[in-house]
Amino acid sequence: MEFDHDAIVIGAGVCGIYQAYRLQQMGVRFLVLEQASDVGGTWYWNRYPGCRFDSESETYGYSFSEELLKEWDWSEHFAPREETERYLQFVVDKFDLRQHMRFDSRLKSAYWDDKLGGWRIATHDGQSYATRFLLTAIGLLSSPTLPRYEGVESFEGLSFHTYHAPRDPVDFAGKRVAVVGTGATGVQLISEIADKVGSLTVFQRRPNWCAPLNNSPITSQEMQEIKQRYDEIFALCRNTPSGFYHDIDPRRTLEVAPEDREVFWEALYSGSGFGVWLGNFKDMLTDPAANAEFSKFVARKIRQRIDDPKIAEKLIPKDHGFGTRRVPMETNYYEVFNQDNVLLVDIGETPIERITRTGIKTNVEDFPFDIIIYATGFDAVTGAFDKIDIVGENGLRLKDKWEDGPQTAFGLSVHGFPNLLTLAGPQSGSVATNFPRGIEEAVNWCSEFLAYLIENKIPYFQATRASEEFWGRHVQEMSERILFGKEQSWFTGYNSNVDRKYRNRCLIYAGGQLRFRGFLQEERDNGYPSFVLSPSDRDQQKTQTVVDILPS
Ligand code: NAP
Repeated sequence: MEFDHDAIVIGAGVCGIYQAYRLQQMGVRFLVLEQASDVGGTWYWNRYPGCRFDSESETYGYSFSEELLKEWDWSEHFAPREETERYLQFVVDKFDLRQHMRFDSRLKSAYWDDKLGGWRIATHDGQSYATRFLLTAIGLLSSPTLPRYEGVESFEGLSFHTYHAPRDPVDFAGKRVAVVGTGATGVQLISEIADKVGSLTVFQRRPNWCAPLNNSPITSQEMQEIKQRYDEIFALCRNTPSGFYHDIDPRRTLEVAPEDREVFWEALYSGSGFGVWLGNFKDMLTDPAANAEFSKFVARKIRQRIDDPKIAEKLIPKDHGFGTRRVPMETNYYEVFNQDNVLLVDIGETPIERITRTGIKTNVEDFPFDIIIYATGFDAVTGAFDKIDIVGENGLRLKDKWEDGPQTAFGLSVHGFPNLLTLAGPQSGSVATNFPRGIEEAVNWCSEFLAYLIENKIPYFQATRASEEFWGRHVQEMSERILFGKEQSWFTGYNSNVDRKYRNRCLIYAGGQLRFRGFLQEERDNGYPSFVLSPSDRDQQKTQTVVDILPS
């Protein structure tokens, strides 16, 4: 028998863990390969101070097991990284999934073998595997990028990208610290360390619109109440476009009297989580005039929170509107810039020329540092795929196929790459939502799809070219309706530290989870018309072998 496994899952983060659970339930012979030394994905790697999610904690847990929901207590409304990592370890141990997982196994290549009718996998530690089905759960934001400044390697102090923050806590006391980058990561980090360092210098290229997270502890009584309401909570999340609690307000901004708008926006701004972004008036993210009104409101808030008006103006974005890039949620971020030990360097005005042995040199000043932290983002969504040599039918490399931007069917499958499911891949609705809610959707669909193949003894599937073309057009159409589809951010494939041939291709699906779910349901209900499913004539022999190993 040529296959070691019926399915191999790449990645043991939030998505890979749930897929592992489903495969275990299905009785499929499977393996999870994980490059880290333990489970957690994002929550394993991002050990920078201040790391936490912006999802209400009770909406971030898996919904599949009532027992699990009863057993797990969240301690804060927006849990810190350490707690989420512990949660994922708890899930893996509870459902005995570790036995199927191989850690420190970084994927090197995945080749489609036509004769085999499956994938040949090689890891960097020299192991090889053969599997019928390959499922990737390799993360959207798992390929960190350093800036391409001269001298990055020459710095003699401690320096790291936030994704690779040291496992042991860094001692910041009395240190001269630089942070480069002010996206969601930089904003969390800066707020957390500002009062722990000797001095902090923030190098900002473009400011982002940030809004208060308004986090607080969950009391044990609150947790008990949450446990009583899980059905309602998940039903709520299921019915919003984003998979969060927050649903758009059906009113249009300019139809509402200015004083009523003000009251509504004040409530959103003092509320917790993404309400301010995702629970706003329905045209806030689609109509530039509406967006400009809300941007003015947030700019006023920022000005109120910063003592020095010149610094306030530097922190207020002038080149894009609120929410047209991912909104960093913050805790006292703006107040940090009122501290005497914090300096903001606008590198739009005074560009960084190089990193030196002792610090950072701009065109006007040489700054000495003990620690430089790069919060400079990721080669998002497709970057993790590019790091693996994935070769499909007829020698086609995924990297080449996606050179001008990703092409997929539903963000879950790629023409020319049979038996491959990209669980959290580009253009998928699963990645544009409250992540666990979105990936449960994708994993459920893919698991049902695999069960269908197994039940019907179909060893081969492939998305049709037509389905891929349809999905590409639809993804583009959805992104053009929303303002963030036009902005430079990781959503649209922008990263100044990576050479890409394409620009302005929406990497995520902006149509919302309800529409996405509709497409998936239709596909399933109609017997998967967007896929070629074949125990094909050409490999009748192979089919026989496969059917033998597939559980019935
Ligand atoms: P990001 O949003 O891409 O931000 C990267 C930052 O680094 C930007 O300010 C960027 O400036 C700057 N930068 C990049 N290259 C630079 C260079 N060569 N020189 C100077 N500055 C440079 O990355 P991120 O902050 O890591 O966040 C990525 C995503 O991770 C978020 O959008 C979010 O989805 C996720 N995340 C989530 C949470 C959470 O759940 N709370 C927390 C952190 C991250 P420009 O804007 O000028 O390019």
